[in-house]
Amino acid sequence: MLFKNITVIDENYEAQEHLNVVTEGKKITYIGKEMPENYNGEIYDGNNKVAMPGFFNIHCHVPMTLIRGYGEGLPLHRWLTERMFPFEALLTPEDMYWGSLLGMAEMIASGAVSFTDMYMEMDGISKAVEEAGMKANLSHGCSAFSDDVHFTDINGYKGIHYLMDYVKNANHDRIIGDASLHAEYTSTETLVREIAEFAKENHLHMHTHISETQKEHNECKQRRGGLTPIQFFNKCGVFDVPATAAHCVWIEGEDFDIMAQKGVTACHCPSSNLKLGSGIAPVKKMLEKGIRVGIGTDGAASNNNLNSLEEVNLASILQKGANNDPLFLGPKQLLELACRNGALSQGRADCGSIKMGNRADIVIYDLDKPHLQPVFDVLSNIMYSAQSNDICLSMIDGNIVYKNGVFTDIDLEKVMFHANRIKEEKLAQLK
Ligand SMILES: [Zn+2]
Repeated sequence: MLFKNITVIDENYEAQEHLNVVTEGKKITYIGKEMPENYNGEIYDGNNKVAMPGFFNIHCHVPMTLIRGYGEGLPLHRWLTERMFPFEALLTPEDMYWGSLLGMAEMIASGAVSFTDMYMEMDGISKAVEEAGMKANLSHGCSAFSDDVHFTDINGYKGIHYLMDYVKNANHDRIIGDASLHAEYTSTETLVREIAEFAKENHLHMHTHISETQKEHNECKQRRGGLTPIQFFNKCGVFDVPATAAHCVWIEGEDFDIMAQKGVTACHCPSSNLKLGSGIAPVKKMLEKGIRVGIGTDGAASNNNLNSLEEVNLASILQKGANNDPLFLGPKQLLELACRNGALSQGRADCGSIKMGNRADIVIYDLDKPHLQPVFDVLSNIMYSAQSNDICLSMIDGNIVYKNGVFTDIDLEKVMFHANRIKEEKLAQLK
């Protein structure tokens, strides 16, 4: 594909006008002012369009789209125990497949090219990712409440083996299998140590929730001899592999130094943290301490959507307000978090920016909209004024997965039919 005469947000996240970009196979093979010589492939007219790097949504539970809005208005504990857990217990791999397609449709249509996920039933989710064309670091969230329970006893053990086999046999590298501990408060020390060891032996990344609520953070300190979730996990070796820690709202003191030293990526989930009343993550302090920070939507049950553009915008304006600093998390720094940091957290060093030799993950925005005119600063218009329906094309690994509102490989009507069928069936079972 040749994107002809288009404005490109380049590898430094600066706008360059009137460029030509060529993709071949999975990669970007040419960027320049001159038209490429001897090109005779497909041409996309870039007039009044912007080529942006795709977002990396680094904390999600994609099939939870199926539970969107269920149990709204209940306090957190009742919402979890009376609504989420009973409904989730009924979900089959096939249900996960439909829920994942629904979630990926939202993500693709809002500018994401990749996501980091923690859930269960890896076969249904990986089948959906395979078909939809996104990249994903998938994991089966592990938990245990008794020291007699070992990693080899739980479904998560089968889940990670399923993913490792899948990755070995796949003819692409869009799907990566990660190890996952759901959280400190749902784990025993035995389980934490066993999974940490397994991740190290198998060179896996780790995905977990950290200090999302003040209650969970303080109870951990009581339970673990004064150690915070970060300190406890660090003691057990969890951060001896590259890790993504979702939320990090209540981290304190030495936690910052451990995360920086161990290269833990913090995933800021502003919508979820605000909607569940968890608090506001100390993103500025984390960045000042040298911690890598990315952005995630969390699951649709606590957001309640998977709109990546909205999440990135919210991260910026929330953190500006919380820090009383209008210059903090401006458009360039925001893309650093949402694109490059996200890609690095997933172990995808050749992703996260539009650059020669990088993967062709390109999202095209149409500037020909009332809320995007006039254009003084194109990047500022995208980050602060654009809506997801300004996205007119999305390319992942060189494949067009979405164009003019139509998904290449997701039959949206069918997916929405099944999401509603699943809702009715589960509600009938729960009666
Ligand atoms: Zn989560």
